[in-house]
Amino acid sequence: MTWFNGLEAICQTDARLAEHTWYGLGGPARWLFTPRNEAELAALVQRCAAASIPWRVLGRGANVLVRDTGFDGAVIKLSAPFWDELRFEDTLAYAAAGVDFPRVVRQSLDHGLVGLENLAGIPGTVGGAVRMNAGGHYGCIGELVRDVRLMTTAGQLLTCPAAEMGFGYRTSNVNGRIVIGVTLQLQRGDREAAMARFRQIWNEKYAHQPPVSARSAGCVFKNPPGHAAGRLIDEAGLKGTRRGGAEISPQHANFIIAHPEATAQDVLDLIALTRERVRSTSGIELECEIETW
Ligand SMILES: Cc1cc2nc3c(=O)[nH]c(=O)nc-3n(C[C@H](O)[C@H](O)[C@H](O)COP(=O)(O)OP(=O)(O)OC[C@H]3O[C@@H](n4cnc5c(N)ncnc54)[C@H](O)[C@@H]3O)c2cc1C
Repeated sequence: MTWFNGLEAICQTDARLAEHTWYGLGGPARWLFTPRNEAELAALVQRCAAASIPWRVLGRGANVLVRDTGFDGAVIKLSAPFWDELRFEDTLAYAAAGVDFPRVVRQSLDHGLVGLENLAGIPGTVGGAVRMNAGGHYGCIGELVRDVRLMTTAGQLLTCPAAEMGFGYRTSNVNGRIVIGVTLQLQRGDREAAMARFRQIWNEKYAHQPPVSARSAGCVFKNPPGHAAGRLIDEAGLKGTRRGGAEISPQHANFIIAHPEATAQDVLDLIALTRERVRSTSGIELECEIETW
């Protein structure tokens, strides 16, 4: 009998995580679970706790670098149809954690609801966006959140108002809990104007960084207070630097691109080199925005 007895139908063993991350890198997860509803998810986290199995939730892996050795624990993906619910009611949008975030942005605009156009061009799921408080120059998701439905590590459900979510620069206090879904407070507005702004923000973003289809995890480092990480890396003369199959993007120095032959270790080596060079040229310590598993 295994520790996940009864949950075999939603478990894959030694699943290659490279297939589940934007980087397309990383070794296997010892177990990959795809729960089909809240009850299965609750049972799973309770079993993990009882058996002291470490676990992580993975969205689209657009902000995660998985090591070549993989993750020796349970990875949970909310990719079953249950987690794909998106509904609109008046000026509110409810999106379950597994919904593609760009889809929420597009469909909100289709419903004549504005606010999310400021978050154009951010790949990933709703769960990942809430956890990371995804955003950019023109705002972040936390500003539009009314409340978040969460599951605790004990498998209990609760609804947390935005004010209690600890939203900050690419951070929240989701830590250790699971985002089940989010209610966003949007506004009625001029759909055409919002679409135009969406296109403008998208074009502005992707004129200065690698295409969304490139293998990356977005910005590698957070911007230190008063500085742009990309500029510090550029000033350290690192644009275009390669380690194995990983390269500091010549287009935007805060992106590390994975070429076909790249390993996760190549990316980690470039991260270490970048931190060391920026420290020595500017005295500034760069902090990773991407998560390494
Ligand atoms: C080309 C490109 C451009 C990007 N541009 C931006 C940008 O402009 N702004 C920005 O903020 N980010 C950007 N990113 C990073 C990334 O898109 C965001 O961080 C996104 O929100 C990650 O979503 P995900 O579903 O892929 O999360 P993942 O990368 O899978 O996970 C990220 C974190 O969220 C956690 N998580 C995921 N789902 C859940 C859940 N249901 N419950 C609890 N925790 C969960 C994971 O455990 C992990 O800690 C970019 C990435 C790429 C590749």
